[in-house]
Amino acid sequence: MTNPPTNAPLAGEFALIDWIRSRTPTGPNTLLGIGDDCAIIRTTPGDDWLVTTDMLMDGRHFVLDRDGPEAAGRKALAVNLSDIAAMAGTPVAATVSVALPKTQAREIAQGIHEGLSPLARRFNVDLVGGDTNGWDGPLVISVTLFGTCPPQGAVTRAGARPGDQIFVTGPLGGSLLGRHLHPEPRVLEAKALIESVSIRAMIDVSDGLVSDLGHILEESGGLGAALDLSHIPIHEDARLMSQADQRSPLDHALNDGEDFELCFVVGPEEAMRLKAGLHPLVLHHVGEVQSEAGIRIRLADGTVRPIVSQGFDHLRP
Ligand code: ADP
Ligand code: MG
Repeated sequence: MTNPPTNAPLAGEFALIDWIRSRTPTGPNTLLGIGDDCAIIRTTPGDDWLVTTDMLMDGRHFVLDRDGPEAAGRKALAVNLSDIAAMAGTPVAATVSVALPKTQAREIAQGIHEGLSPLARRFNVDLVGGDTNGWDGPLVISVTLFGTCPPQGAVTRAGARPGDQIFVTGPLGGSLLGRHLHPEPRVLEAKALIESVSIRAMIDVSDGLVSDLGHILEESGGLGAALDLSHIPIHEDARLMSQADQRSPLDHALNDGEDFELCFVVGPEEAMRLKAGLHPLVLHHVGEVQSEAGIRIRLADGTVRPIVSQGFDHLRP
């Protein structure tokens, strides 16, 4: 009889990524490998490159018949731009690979290109290649985006310390109502931030605030956080969705994915400066990093309750 597999706990997306990561040695040109919003590649000191890739699938990240290929193409580039923003980098060049349904392949491919090109021009991204395939399956689009690091050095998910203050760049929740198709990558906002304050850690909110803040805390050595209930910016869409399901607006704001706002942490003095205002950015101070692991919510009366992440996981059954 064969033994059961010993690599059992691969239930979730992040456990699987950890499994791959633990078996992947860091190569000589890799400053930062698997586990952040972008990898950092260094072949020449002082000339570091960012690389990120994201794949979008019909029926999961967009619905081709409902949204059209233009929106799908735009979103495919936007989500990658968001990962470059999360490192405070500058996007440079992209490749676009597609698996096209054989029916209407040409129209779909042209639509993707028309949706994506204006965004590429806006962010000075050169389209430098890709791959075109046809099949009987649904549309899949994969974009790989290259960027450069800021002179201050890329901001990673690691680097938060107890006492640091947590900010987000915009209201959260309910993006499924339609906002998720038109994310506004926070590339310029990240640049403005890094030029004004020292950001200790940053991530873009793609899987939900609790889940993504969790990645910062984990990568920063197993820290925790307290979020202030009254400070969580709840998007109007979260309130609208809440009317249609049994979940509260707060639950949507904390756990919904695909907001593509930035979540970042700064030291206490820097936080004071940000709270004084950084025109024209609207920043929301949502809580603080603590040494005790886990994410808690602080109510107005001072009561503290644990929160369990229900953020998006691609491999959750
Ligand atoms: P994001 O939401 O920022 O795009 P993900 O949660 O998709 O990040 O991925 C987290 C990290 O795991 C990233 O560094 C990503 O490059 C890496 N990663 C994801 N899937 C794989 C894979 N199949 N093989 C290697 N690395 C992966
Ligand atoms: Mg990301």
